[in-house]
Formats: sequence, C-alpha cells, structure tokens
Amino acid sequence: MYKRILLKLSGEALSNHDEIFVREVLDDLSSQIKTIVDSGVEVAIVVGGGNFVRGRMAEDLGIDRIQVDYMGMLGTVINALAIQGALERNGVETRVQTAIDMTKVAEPFIPRRAIRHMEKGRVVVFGAGTGSAFFSTDTTAALRASEIKADVILMAKNGVDGVYDADPNVVKTATKFDSLTYMDLLQKGLEVMDSTATSMCMDNDIDLIVFNMNEKNNIIKAVKGEAEATRISKGGN
Ligand code: UDP
Repeated sequence: MYKRILLKLSGEALSNHDEIFVREVLDDLSSQIKTIVDSGVEVAIVVGGGNFVRGRMAEDLGIDRIQVDYMGMLGTVINALAIQGALERNGVETRVQTAIDMTKVAEPFIPRRAIRHMEKGRVVVFGAGTGSAFFSTDTTAALRASEIKADVILMAKNGVDGVYDADPNVVKTATKFDSLTYMDLLQKGLEVMDSTATSMCMDNDIDLIVFNMNEKNNIIKAVKGEAEATRISKGGN
C-alpha cells in the first residue's frame, strides 16, 4: 500500500461521445477516492484536457499551436473543478492548484502547500498542466509527482489494463508486460506516454502503474497493488 499517490486521469476518462462530463463517472471516481483517502493514503490528481482540445488539433483548426495548447490547459482547469465538485459532494476535502494563476477559482501551484494539504487529508487536483505550451499532462504528472514526492504515479487508462507489445484491440495475440523499465519504453517505442514524460519519470526514479480505470474499484485495487496492471520503473541499480 502506497502512502502518497498521484493519479493521472485523461480528460476523456470523464466524458463519453455525447457529454463532456458523465455524472456516473464522476460519482464512481469520487467514491473510490474517498475510500482511498479514508484509508490514510494521500492523494493528488493530475487531469488532462483531451475532452476539450489537444495541441495536436492545431493544424486542423488553423489556430497557432501555442494558442491551442493554452486552450488545452484551460480545459484541464475545467476538469479539475468538476473533479473538485464531485469529490466535495462525496465529503472529500479538496483543493485545486493551477500552474496558470487564476486566484479567483483556484490556488496557485505551491509544492509545499500541496504537500501540507495532503497531510491534512485533502485531495489536491492540479490543473493547467505545466503552464507551458508543448508539454502534456503526462509530463505534468511526472513533474508534480517529483515535486510532491509521490511514491507512485497511477496512470488510469480506459479499456486497457496495461502495456502490450501490440494494440490488444487490433492484434489478438498481443501480450501484456507485467513489468518494464523506462528504458524498455523508449527503446521498444511503446506508447504509454510521450518521451518527455518517460524521461522525467526515469530521471527522477518514479514508479508508474498503468491500469484500467473501467474495471470496478480498480483505482482502489491499484493503490493496494492488486489491480491487473503493468508496473514501470527505472530498474537497474
Ligand atoms: N497542455 C500544454 N501544456 C501542458 C499540459 C497540457 O500545452 O503542460 C495542452 C496540450 O495542448 C494538450 C492539452 O493541453 O494536448 C490537453 O492535455 P493532454 O493532451 O495531456 O490531455 P489528456 O490526453 O490526458 O486528456
């Protein structure tokens, strides 16, 4: 059982084809987080913004990449506020901290303050990514996990329970890895997260658990090390 975790959620995890937010998903997420916090584990969350917009859509939109990246970062703040609202409805004390200052809606990101909140049993949700264009919220997760000294990043995937040698939805014979090193990810070109995020996790020696968020109670199971998953670490010495 970990003491302090950082949960990485994609924006799409909160939505479906028709709705930006699905109430059942927010309810399930917050009730699992409540169970985890009540068991004494400290929780931080980094949420993506893919349910709104992603930087790679810049060309199709005909809008400058940096502009679209800021749009994406603002999308993550909307998601962070949705998660905060859902957690508070479930009786979990929460703070949102953003990398772009917007002090009317959230605290600015201050690592020591984030740690203090978690020590008091509050969940801290990080919004606005790193605050800089050309990064992803996976890199944000690696960065924030290092800054708040998290024991592990739990990377929630939708519909896939770990890292495979081929896309399991396409290749029937695809096999899942139980464990990998970050060097394996880079050398084999496995698409778990972008290379900036992978390098940062490797350099800062952060463990990563890739698991399927769509299985019942799987966030709780991942915290306990009981979920079907792939574990990625620095390896070696
Ligand atoms: N983004 C950014 N800098 C960051 C984090 C995010 O510019 O530090 C932008 C980027 O355009 C990205 C979008 O915000 O595509 C949404 O984040 P991401 O794609 O990581 O979301 P997810 O796929 O996890 O929902």
